[in-house]
Amino acid sequence: MSIALSAKAGSFTESVIREMTRLNLALHGPERAINFAQGFPDFEPPPEIVEAAQEALAAGGAYHQYATTWGAPALRQAVAHKKSAEWGLPVDPEREVTVACGATESMMAAMLATVDPGDEVIVFEPFYENYGPDCILSGARPRYVALRPPDWSFDENELRAAFNERTRAIVVNTPHNPTGKVYRREELELIAELCHRHDAVAITDEIYEHMVFEGEHISIATLPGMRERTITISGASKTYSITGWRIGWLIAPPELTSGIRKVHDFLTVGAAHPLQIAVAAALGFPPSFYDALLEEYRERRDVIVRGLREVGFQPNPPAGAYYVMAGIEGLTDRDDVAFAHWLVETAGVATVPGSSFYADRELGRRLIRFSFPKRLSTIERGLDALRQIRS
Ligand code: PLP
Repeated sequence: MSIALSAKAGSFTESVIREMTRLNLALHGPERAINFAQGFPDFEPPPEIVEAAQEALAAGGAYHQYATTWGAPALRQAVAHKKSAEWGLPVDPEREVTVACGATESMMAAMLATVDPGDEVIVFEPFYENYGPDCILSGARPRYVALRPPDWSFDENELRAAFNERTRAIVVNTPHNPTGKVYRREELELIAELCHRHDAVAITDEIYEHMVFEGEHISIATLPGMRERTITISGASKTYSITGWRIGWLIAPPELTSGIRKVHDFLTVGAAHPLQIAVAAALGFPPSFYDALLEEYRERRDVIVRGLREVGFQPNPPAGAYYVMAGIEGLTDRDDVAFAHWLVETAGVATVPGSSFYADRELGRRLIRFSFPKRLSTIERGLDALRQIRS
């Protein structure tokens, strides 16, 4: 007897990013393999956050049991406090904040709570690879709007034409993975105008909100009239270098929040309770923490962009986040997938083929994505390995 997968599970593939990481480790082992594929740090998180987690575990009692399903009060209050200050708008921890297992679960819960089968969701392309399966799992039809290099801008008319009576939501990821684009105010104003006109929800993924090298981070929720129709997603993975803790959150108006909380409850019940308590402490870090984080990432960005140029890639310096999309023209005749495999085999360097971020895979055939949340010494080691392939 052959057991068939559901049509949904059968319609997307395993994550290419995690596949490249695994392949590289299998071939070269953890000592030699350089991971420029998956966006996680190879350095330690701030010691204060680890201590806060240890304290929560040692305190025991209720922390060993389920937290309130939509988030431990301390974390919801910390999220609301930080965001109210940044936005200059009140955020109600009781009715507007939901804690979930990372931005990943947050996006899934947001879509399941707002979108019905047959609805359309607008997604900018290239996109973070989860958004495609998120749309499929929620029954939505994704409609793609192109971001074009070198500045990854989109065409106003193309965006206007993408909105129609079936549009239920638009996903905005700023700063953007994989391009590093930081959406400008005029771009967000246009998106806001179209959301109003078509009664659509903006679902924004702002997980890289503290990594903006050029321009400024603007939450679309702060634009006039958008707070009522925006679901803002962020989390602790990137800012505090704890991608394995799986803590993220959503901020949305009460009606949307009630739907999100129901979906979240049946997806996961809740995120790890002691870790929620530790992240609540981290959200109180002073501004100097975020300044230092940014400067460290700026240095990593500059080193990798310069090094990739020297090797012969055509890197597009990112304005935010921690990825570089780089052209491979002149370096190889292989396509992106064959070249990324070849880099793993010959250099022990894992990257991600550009086509993984496009629905129309041909658009990414001459691009490779590098991620750089790594020690400078790791970045240098990776660049050295890449220099060898030229010699
Ligand atoms: N959103 C974007 C744009 C990302 O790049 C990533 C991780 O790479 C995530 C979400 C995942 O976030 P989390 O670890 O909070 O699930």
